[in-house]
Amino acid sequence: MDMQPPAGPNFAIPPAAPRGLCTDCGISRTAAPKRCATACQFIKPNYPALEHAVHGRARDPARPDELFFGPFRRMLRAALAAPREGAQWTGITTRIAERLLETGAVDAVLTMAPDPADHWRPMPVLVTRPEDLAPCRGMRMGYAPLLALLEPARALGHRRLAIIGIPCQIYALRALEAELGFERLYVIGTPCSDNTTTERFHEFLALLTDAPETVTYLEFLPDFHVELRFTDGRVRRIPFLRLPISKLPADFFPLTCRTCVDYTNVLADITVGYMAGSGAQWLIVRNDRGEALLSLLGHEIVLTPLTSAGKRASSVAGYLKNVELAAGGLPVRSMPNWLRPIMAWLMPRIGPRGLEFARTRVEMKAVETVLHLRARHPRRMRNMVPAHIWGLVAAYGLVPTKEETK
Ligand SMILES: Cc1cc2nc3c(=O)[nH]c(=O)nc-3n(C[C@H](O)[C@H](O)[C@H](O)COP(=O)(O)OP(=O)(O)OC[C@H]3O[C@@H](n4cnc5c(N)ncnc54)[C@H](O)[C@@H]3O)c2cc1C
Ligand code: SF4
Ligand code: SF4
Repeated sequence: MDMQPPAGPNFAIPPAAPRGLCTDCGISRTAAPKRCATACQFIKPNYPALEHAVHGRARDPARPDELFFGPFRRMLRAALAAPREGAQWTGITTRIAERLLETGAVDAVLTMAPDPADHWRPMPVLVTRPEDLAPCRGMRMGYAPLLALLEPARALGHRRLAIIGIPCQIYALRALEAELGFERLYVIGTPCSDNTTTERFHEFLALLTDAPETVTYLEFLPDFHVELRFTDGRVRRIPFLRLPISKLPADFFPLTCRTCVDYTNVLADITVGYMAGSGAQWLIVRNDRGEALLSLLGHEIVLTPLTSAGKRASSVAGYLKNVELAAGGLPVRSMPNWLRPIMAWLMPRIGPRGLEFARTRVEMKAVETVLHLRARHPRRMRNMVPAHIWGLVAAYGLVPTKEETK
């Protein structure tokens, strides 16, 4: 498909102010960069307070899945009846945004388009015409200052805005929402994990294929395979266990993404992911606005109940052992070559599936956060690690020391 960025004003984005742990969400490039101190997920996040402000309540311990995925009204398996060309899955995310523009519910949508010089690089754009969202479909790897376009949006007179973003961007947005002064704000979030710079991602592609420039699509599927698509229409599926992970440099994933405490975008109105979807998409409808966003799709969307199978405990415990080695700078234990094809065949059949797969991944990410911060920034733990992370890792013997909690 044509990968032109949407038509629209070309905004000059100021340079980023240097920060320590930072994914360049854009706040450091605004007129008031000092707001990073209160807005940043990596400094002193306050999830219970923001969950309360956005959803009217924090997570409810009586609904155990909220401890994994944040507050929600309902969770569903979902697919667009007519999947959109160029979408990462079926295109629910960008279709909701198109409907917001089509119905006049918002003046503009703030999201990422592919950079014209490199289609894997995200580039923030303000979109005002529904047809200009088509080129924004699909996942790109890397960071780009989405929130730097909030001020231009205001300056253009946009009062009602929709934002599509990943969790570290949405945390900062919510932390500042009250002072931003938008009349209406809809937040469509996607989960996010294992992001890295676009440059590093190109290195990964080069390990997977001799012709990395021909790869148009990559996704880590819940059936333990990576799917690659190529410009000539070929599709290749690689079992996770056969990925060249051991060839990646130790700093391939930046510390931000190894210590990120929000996998499922708990402050979005609706989260559109795939992890619990067993091959389809996964919706987490979190509040009234999330319900209104879903209702915009009417009969265009097919909704079915989620399923769950398998048990996660041994997968997470095995993962913890490897992260302990990696965080201590030691080589990870690799599986003998003869066992790999057997495990690659077995995992989609007996491993955690559906909701249990999503719980597995959320617990793994929580384990990673604790172990990497302990190894690299122990003094930041008391401010950076929220209580919900400690709740998730307790079953694996990870408990906070006195210094690690407030
Ligand atoms: C780095 C990354 C990691 C992810 N990891 C997971 C995961 O582990 N589990 C999971 O369930 N989902 C994950 N997702 C979300 C998933 O890839 C799909 O985007 C999501 O399921 C929506 O699919 P869709 O077909 O509805 O999206 P589409 O309609 O194709 O729209 C995708 C939207 O994502 C935006 N986008 C693309 N790249 C970026 C980026 N780098 N930064 C910010 N916004 C971007 C696009 O601008 C577009 O608006 C990840 C997304 C990213 C960007
Ligand atoms: S708020 Fe955004 S720009 Fe500021 S330090 Fe955090 S991630 Fe970086
Ligand atoms: S993994 Fe977390 S910190 Fe990294 S880009 Fe995704 S949301 Fe941001």
